Amino acid sequence: MGVLLTEPLGRALSGCLDYLAPEGGCGTGDFVEVPLGPRRMLGVVWGAGEGSFDLARLRPVTRVLDARPMRAELRSFLARAADYTLTPLPAMLRLATRSPGLFDPPGARKVYRLGGPVPNRLTDARLRVIEALRDFAGAAVTLGELSEAAACTASVIKGLVKAGVIAEEAAPRDLPFPTLDPVPGATLLGDQIAAADALVANVEQGGFHATLLKGVTGSGKTEVYLEAVAATLRKGRQALVLLPEIALTAEFLKRVEARFGARPAEWHSGVTQTERRRVWKMVSEGRAQMVVGARSALFLPFQHLGLVVVDEEHDTSYKQEEGVLYNARDMAVLRGAICGAQVVLASATPSLESWVNADQGKYQRLDLSSRFGTAELPDMRAIDMRAEKLPANRWISDTLAQAVRARQAAGEQSLLFLNRRGYAPMTICRACGHQVGCDDCDARMVEHRFLARLVCHQCGATKPVPTACPSCGVEGRMAPVGPGVERLAEEVVERFPDARLAILSSDLFGSARALKEQIEAIAAGGADIIIGTQIVAKGHNFPLLTLVGVIDADLGLQGSDLRAAERTFQLMRQVAGRAGRSGDRRGLALLQSHQPEHPVIRAILSGEEEGFWRAEAAERQAAGVPPYGRMAGIILSGPEVQPVFDFAAELARRDGPLRRIGAQLFGPAPAPIARVRGRHRVRLLIKAEKGAPLQAAIAEWLAQLKQPNAIRLAVDIDPQSFL
Ligand code: ADP
Ligand code: ZN
Repeated sequence: MGVLLTEPLGRALSGCLDYLAPEGGCGTGDFVEVPLGPRRMLGVVWGAGEGSFDLARLRPVTRVLDARPMRAELRSFLARAADYTLTPLPAMLRLATRSPGLFDPPGARKVYRLGGPVPNRLTDARLRVIEALRDFAGAAVTLGELSEAAACTASVIKGLVKAGVIAEEAAPRDLPFPTLDPVPGATLLGDQIAAADALVANVEQGGFHATLLKGVTGSGKTEVYLEAVAATLRKGRQALVLLPEIALTAEFLKRVEARFGARPAEWHSGVTQTERRRVWKMVSEGRAQMVVGARSALFLPFQHLGLVVVDEEHDTSYKQEEGVLYNARDMAVLRGAICGAQVVLASATPSLESWVNADQGKYQRLDLSSRFGTAELPDMRAIDMRAEKLPANRWISDTLAQAVRARQAAGEQSLLFLNRRGYAPMTICRACGHQVGCDDCDARMVEHRFLARLVCHQCGATKPVPTACPSCGVEGRMAPVGPGVERLAEEVVERFPDARLAILSSDLFGSARALKEQIEAIAAGGADIIIGTQIVAKGHNFPLLTLVGVIDADLGLQGSDLRAAERTFQLMRQVAGRAGRSGDRRGLALLQSHQPEHPVIRAILSGEEEGFWRAEAAERQAAGVPPYGRMAGIILSGPEVQPVFDFAAELARRDGPLRRIGAQLFGPAPAPIARVRGRHRVRLLIKAEKGAPLQAAIAEWLAQLKQPNAIRLAVDIDPQSFL
């Protein structure tokens, strides 16, 4: 029989190898351990073997593992996803088997829970243990995991056990999740009713159906799709909700718990290994009704998946840009189609792809047109920066500063949005003009004062800020140029000395927990002015926030990215949507711009969304680019630039298979970031018509040439990033 391994055996081979059945036999879908040379590997019985080998030379499967067989639906999803993304099937299978210790025998081990009363006076280390346990909210935690989360030694935990504050229990592994009670939620109002009714009717009817749920921030999208979740649970099927950002899960889990009386399963990189194993197992046994997670949750072994919700479906983090390149939003639709599940894509600012699919009737579209209750959308205005004469190294216009002061006086919060991490995007020598770059990448180093170092945002390399110019050697002339959030913070401290300031930037937090705490503190009123990068745009709810100031609204419009206009539109609308969510006071969003007459800026301000999408769609259609045409990026990289270019040029010369389907090939050209981690990067771009069999043509095209060992090649179907 054929066993699919979880490791690719070279590009050409399918990854399926023939083995003899073990004693006692095994069936399709079984998880098995097989010998490969001297190693033992994990695999899944994929079907009948090729049969062309001498039976006497075949080796038997070592053992069948203690896990539910992989269902045909998931196998078919993995195969289709591999075909679509041109990923070797074993790499796809690996995404679906990423559960630590999955193949250990079932057994008991010790877990820790809050036990007796918590004394008032505790050492810092003991306090951290208690806080960590509260954070885990009853999930099974081992000694190792707890000491890591609390940053303390095992003896601190043992001491607490002795003192009777926490309980040590021998727990069976992999407890099922508590049952969720799909009781009715809040009384829905206005167009929420029609939207929820439509979703519930779809769930009850069953089968695959995709819906775009579009509504401004705060209109009740979550409230509405939770009705669909409830309907799914009532039918005895499982529901999956994907969120774009781990920091959002805590708030969401609380909401689900309040609604359904228990916490659902949680799946993302911040979840402990023990808990991940439990989730994987329980999902596969149908004993986890609902999973909330990151994009990789899409590969969990659901037994009867009935609903997939992709919240903030436009978010770029759904596209995995490393390893297997896939878009979780598209893969959610594929999995739904294969297993007969409902798919709900929710957003205030949908991707143009989904907007067009809805416009063409492929997806049903449901709209929530107003904010819940009395909350109104913020008033949006531009500040013309050409008229505001700012002194050097200042970025907050007087108009914006006045608005911030007014909020501060009223006890309300202001958010200053700048999508640039660090202190300054550039460090240059005032003597010779040299810009400090990364040694391994073709990228500028960004100063981070908080770390007191220069950081490369491509590879993460750091170095000290030089006092002498690395190029001309002149001392004391190195200067930061341009603002990052840390530098903006300096200006805020100087100009608003009595304001309490908080900075939200992903690099300033050691852990998801620290970020979550900061977000909770801000939501509770712990800051007057918040400076944030794009993490603030992602659905956090700050009730006291009534002013959003965008420091540089033009930032995203620079560059030639196909989606520059779409991204700027989405980001600005999302950020502005943070203001005035509570309903008592109308929010205000002020966009600092040097080109307030730019059509995108005008569309953002006017709020004429449909008009913007229609114009953007027409432009893409005229240019034959996604979603009206298809694209694939090919990224080649190697330690030496010439061989990479030569190989790319050779590929370009043999473009017959591409031409036969009417596709066009562009390049080779150096990638915009031409070197990353010491590897030179060259890009090719393929454009084809919408219905063209692009993947098959690319596979045939690439199969013509053997790839030199030093060169890496990645195929990016439907690329989102062109760096
Ligand atoms: P969205 O997901 O569109 O941002 P939410 O579902 O989070 O919107 O709703 C915004 C806020 O309004 C939440 O605090 C939610 O609890 C509340 N809300 C929305 N609809 C209702 C309703 N029908 N009854 C009570 N509260 C509601
Ligand atoms: Zn670098």
